[in-house]
Amino acid sequence: MEVGRFAPTTSGPAHPGTLLAALLAWLDARHRGARFLLRLEDLDPERTTPQRGREMIEQLTWFGLDWDDLIWQSTAAARHRQALDTLAADGHLYFCTCSRRQIREHGRTIPGGGYRYPGTCRERPLPIDWRERTHDAVIRLRLEPGVETIPDESGLDLSLDPWHVHGDPIVRRRDGAVAYNLAVVVDDAAADVTRVVRGRDLASSTATQHRIATLLGLPEPTYRHHFLLLEDHRGKLSKSGKSVGVPELRERYRPVELCGVLACYAGLLERPDAIEPRRLLDGFQWSRVRTDDLEIVWDGESLQRVAS
Ligand code: GLU
Ligand code: ZN
Repeated sequence: MEVGRFAPTTSGPAHPGTLLAALLAWLDARHRGARFLLRLEDLDPERTTPQRGREMIEQLTWFGLDWDDLIWQSTAAARHRQALDTLAADGHLYFCTCSRRQIREHGRTIPGGGYRYPGTCRERPLPIDWRERTHDAVIRLRLEPGVETIPDESGLDLSLDPWHVHGDPIVRRRDGAVAYNLAVVVDDAAADVTRVVRGRDLASSTATQHRIATLLGLPEPTYRHHFLLLEDHRGKLSKSGKSVGVPELRERYRPVELCGVLACYAGLLERPDAIEPRRLLDGFQWSRVRTDDLEIVWDGESLQRVAS
């Protein structure tokens, strides 16, 4: 059976981009009769709290979405440790003590932001007591150079050499939490996820995730990356995640109204008429969903599309 999922990081309230991504993943799964999972990615002990997780559930429910299973990623610690053990036993991991400043000074910039890890600690062994020594260093995965060719259902080219572009990824952070790229692969496989539908901002991490899945011998889902809502935030465009949150939007919109606006942005409706998500299932097709990113602005009362 096909299984889709929505996997938000619960570090703050949902925003228009969160709802759009949830809606598209939900439509993709539901219109093909797949199971649909909500996985709350709550591994970051500082930024993600149980309260924020509960708020995400409440906000997605308010919007009109549902799911067959709910997974709190933080309950999967044993599975994450096991994956680290496997990678360590196969000799793929090493300790890295580089500071952010060192990486900035020696690493190239990555398209889309951040710095490539230059590989400074790559030849270091993993100490025997690495499991206990969480605060001394991060743990990285030693990648072999080489281009990965991964098909994206949307036709987007995901081919990239993860080592060359991003450098060796962190798999365990200094606070002991398992890092996103490892957790997402392990948890998607554990839940038998067959379809990953997510925003294009995550497209470039797919090659790294593919490598991790290969090293762990895990099956892989098909990928589809969709357009993003870009929000004008003090003159600077960012992925819609920095400004208006669902609590504010709720003061102005009923859920069906907001769904109509987002569906219209996505190309699924000609006019932003109020509609429930389930009424969009009939006739849902990816060929109707826009492909280029869309700039929007919140003027304090309503969401507006920025004319281009
Ligand atoms: N938790 C990630 C995020 O919110 C997305 C995970 C995924 O869809 O692969 O950005
Ligand atoms: Zn290092």
